[in-house]
Amino acid sequence: MKALVISDIHANLTALDTVIKDAGEFDMTWCLGDLVGYGPDPNQCIERVRELPNLFCIIGNHDSAVLDQIDPYAFNNEARRAIEWTKSTLSIASVAFLDRLPERADTRQAYPDLPNHVTLAHGSPRQPVWEYLLDTDSATRSFEFFDTAYCFVGHTHLPILFYQHNNQGSARPLMPETGLEIALSPRAIINPGSVGQPRDRDSRAAYILYDLDSEVVQYRRVEYDIKEVQQRMRKTGLPDRHIARLEGGW
Ligand code: ZN
Repeated sequence: MKALVISDIHANLTALDTVIKDAGEFDMTWCLGDLVGYGPDPNQCIERVRELPNLFCIIGNHDSAVLDQIDPYAFNNEARRAIEWTKSTLSIASVAFLDRLPERADTRQAYPDLPNHVTLAHGSPRQPVWEYLLDTDSATRSFEFFDTAYCFVGHTHLPILFYQHNNQGSARPLMPETGLEIALSPRAIINPGSVGQPRDRDSRAAYILYDLDSEVVQYRRVEYDIKEVQQRMRKTGLPDRHIARLEGGW
């Protein structure tokens, strides 16, 4: 059984569609939040994600912001402009979908028969919506906040994996190369990177395919038509900086 693991789509439909096509066959979909914000296609991305097989989806900070659950002034000027534009564009169905998303989840709830269970959180299992797992200290603390073997997170837009040797001690980071396959056991926190706005200086859309039987993740990247997305962003008047950063991957 295979899961497609995606995060931080950020209303970039071209990147999302390219990832779905590149992934090939998969049985379930785990989406780690931030479906909207920054990009020009919020409703279309939500519609597309909803069509994916056996969807398990949690909420991100940008999704929370468009629902008025987070003060927009917690974001910088440009991110706030994108949030305001997104709010003015979202359909009632899209708002209702985002409003139903939990802050964190684990697969025991929806799929009790899986061989091994995982926790999903946008930022971290400790503070699901806001905490950025960027260093070993915060990752080490995070291992105490979930009781499944593995936890998938997004939010930083950086593909990274933290693992704990022998279930104890400091978390160790691993920066995965594209195509790298990693056996997760015994415990790991896994970030697939971002579909719609990568920030590791690699502009290609990032995602993971996870084999639930062998417990192996494969880190994948795929090129998509960035110019096409930038054109749509210009038409909607989204901030220039967000348009420019797509091609630099920052
Ligand atoms: Zn994000």
